[in-house]
Amino acid sequence: MKHLHSGKVRDLYELPGGELAMVARDTMSAYDHILDTPIPDKGAILTQLSLWWFERLADLLPNHVISTDPPEGAPAGWAGRVVVVERLDMVKVECVARGYLAGGGLREYRQDGAVSGVPLPDGLLDGSVLPEPIFTPTTKADVGAHDEPMTFGEVVAQEGAEEAERLREVTLAVYRRGAELALDRGIIVADTKIELGRRADGELVLADEVLTPDSSRFWPVDRWEPGHAQPSFDKQFVRDWLASPESGWDRAAGGPPPPLPPEIIERTRAKYVEAYERLTGRTFA
Ligand code: ATP
Ligand code: MG
Repeated sequence: MKHLHSGKVRDLYELPGGELAMVARDTMSAYDHILDTPIPDKGAILTQLSLWWFERLADLLPNHVISTDPPEGAPAGWAGRVVVVERLDMVKVECVARGYLAGGGLREYRQDGAVSGVPLPDGLLDGSVLPEPIFTPTTKADVGAHDEPMTFGEVVAQEGAEEAERLREVTLAVYRRGAELALDRGIIVADTKIELGRRADGELVLADEVLTPDSSRFWPVDRWEPGHAQPSFDKQFVRDWLASPESGWDRAAGGPPPPLPPEIIERTRAKYVEAYERLTGRTFA
């Protein structure tokens, strides 16, 4: 196996047959920092959730999954968190759909009244639901750099009109399907990012991970209240603890966050399990 890439939470290897092995680690981020403390099973939970979604989206477009069996020679610890996938030519656009206003979308809206060039009505608040879900693509920045908003016109210039239209259509379809199902189970999917790739024949394929709390904003619906930052389904215990005096962390000083205490680790793990179990109706074993 040839190591190709290590991102913030996943490692990518090339297998002898040309496929890729994508391995999720138990790493978590908060306040734009990668935490030193792993959340046990997070990699496996998110991998299983993503696989479950791929099946539920298969009528919209094909996905990159080849096998969930660990490849030959894989370390035992990869079980449950490795997926063997088709190697694709990745589209150089981060395909984001938003149904609610938050994060970078909120910042853009406050500045321009629009997100990625999509004009929005006046008076929306932090956490407001949008009149309808919108496609707000960004550039795919290299490691260390920030993704920048792209207008639809910029996607057209880069990908061609027909492909840009297809990216928008597929992104919104995935978001709609995911958000609707999650809402039924008490979770708002405020926004989501998908990554698409192309096969040699040009066919568009859903890649990477899909509709996980790492690629999406998950909010508990019973606590949704526009006008301030919404609690995060998965990260809230960590954020609250890091912001509390107990952590002793001075966020503004820019240093790394301290290690998490066992109780915060356990409660956060339980939230990932809860998201998985609520959405899929399965038990995480
Ligand atoms: P981050 O998500 O932390 O910003 P990252 O996207 O570079 O960083 P990871 O998400 O950890 O890193 O790693 C997954 C990488 O694999 C991404 O670069 C993604 O575009 C790429 N990838 C996912 N699926 C495929 C695929 N089927 N073929 C080729 N590359 C893929
Ligand atoms: Mg990624």
